[in-house]
Amino acid sequence: MKKTVVLYPGLGVGHLVPMVEVAKLFLKHGLAVTMAFVEPQVKSTDFSAAVARARASNPSVAFHVLPTPTPPPPADANTDGAPRHHVVKVIQSLAAMNAPLRDFLRSLPSVHALVLDMFCVDALDVAAELKLPVYYSFASGAGDLAIFLNLPSKFASNTAKVKELGDSIVTFPGVPPFKASELPSEVIGDGEAFMYLLRMFERMTEANGILINSLESLEKPAVTALNDGLCVTGRATPPVYCIGPLVSGGGDKEHDCLRWLDAQPDQSVVFLSFGSLGTFSSKQLEEIALGLDKSGERFLWVVRSPRSPDQKHGDPLPEPDLDALMPEGFLERTKDRGLVVKSWAPQVDVLRHRATGAFMTHCGWNSTLEGITAGLPLLCWPLYAEQRVNKVHIVDGMKLGVEMRGYNEEVVKAEEVEEKVRWVMASEGGKALRERVTAAKDAAADALKEGGSSYLAFDQFLNDMGTSMVATVQN
Ligand code: UDP
Repeated sequence: MKKTVVLYPGLGVGHLVPMVEVAKLFLKHGLAVTMAFVEPQVKSTDFSAAVARARASNPSVAFHVLPTPTPPPPADANTDGAPRHHVVKVIQSLAAMNAPLRDFLRSLPSVHALVLDMFCVDALDVAAELKLPVYYSFASGAGDLAIFLNLPSKFASNTAKVKELGDSIVTFPGVPPFKASELPSEVIGDGEAFMYLLRMFERMTEANGILINSLESLEKPAVTALNDGLCVTGRATPPVYCIGPLVSGGGDKEHDCLRWLDAQPDQSVVFLSFGSLGTFSSKQLEEIALGLDKSGERFLWVVRSPRSPDQKHGDPLPEPDLDALMPEGFLERTKDRGLVVKSWAPQVDVLRHRATGAFMTHCGWNSTLEGITAGLPLLCWPLYAEQRVNKVHIVDGMKLGVEMRGYNEEVVKAEEVEEKVRWVMASEGGKALRERVTAAKDAAADALKEGGSSYLAFDQFLNDMGTSMVATVQN
């Protein structure tokens, strides 16, 4: 009987996408894989669509939806009536899935390991109860892991401290120094959510190992710090394995925007896309449009509807009304050199298209790797979650992108959009940046080849996993 590995990806598109790629790696090495899913409590069109896409394009991966227990978790508000942070709700709703997860694992004839997304932290208890080897598939890079594993010892005794640090410089092993305000401040600003995160990061060290979607040469200092045990105080760091970059094969090959790109010259188009959840105010959309208009450069821009004040992070959004959102005459004036796509584009295919020349990104980790493996210079405009620290890694560590000035203010001005777009497409600095990213792209391809660093790291992981497979689930 084939050995089965169960992957448990949690609830975010950005976490699901790389986990499917990990599933494919296991399959390639002869193991059977089942992905266990949770139905989102709040219906997220993006997540459901991403699951549907993953299922359709990976028939050899088994998908299993865990039944939602009754009564459904979790409370929308704290005991004091304040609305709950979405991070707390995600962790709680995943914790409430422990019983169905346990039943599902017990129902399988032979499970050899459980691989978790970091938000599925409470599933560590299920693994311990069933005596299953447990691993993490970490959806961000080694630099983020180096920071996150360090946070509990730095701040657990005083979570308010990190907020008070403001713009003062913080240091973490293996990571360039950066302002404390670049840490995921929307979470840190919420005491309860920050405590949940610290517990989540602290418990990551209970795993038998951590798979990282990165390659060693891209993040050498952070990988060294992790391997040397410098990121965790008072206990050992589990072995880390850089097995990436794992990038999804792409989406809808028939999308109109790809046909539009076919008609553009090589490396001439700036692609603007801000992750599965990124939105802007109408004022900001207008500034971007004006900047693109004035730059004179070609562009392909994915636009979402602005989020209204009563809409929460992750709530489904209506299709944008471009006539209402774009400045007067903008679509008409730029129709020969620009295309605005509503809500979603097949990003990986766009990035790899020969006509795409640069990528304005929110610095989500998948987008970062997708941009680098397409050899595109990154214009970094971080929005939420860990994206500000990703920007630090990209700009100050890897030197594969530049920062959009004003990303941390109310708006990034039209002049900045114009200036950076022109700079990246038509300056000596932009050319030098493109050369550095091309070298990183080549290094990434080499890492995945037989004998490359990521190939060998996965081999090592399978070896280590084999030796820790001391028990299968006891029914
Ligand atoms: N994505 C896409 N089309 C879009 C927006 C996003 O295909 O219009 C994909 C993108 O290629 C990436 C994922 O959604 O694989 C977003 O993950 P990332 O880690 O970059 O950001 P997150 O959505 O988690 O903030």
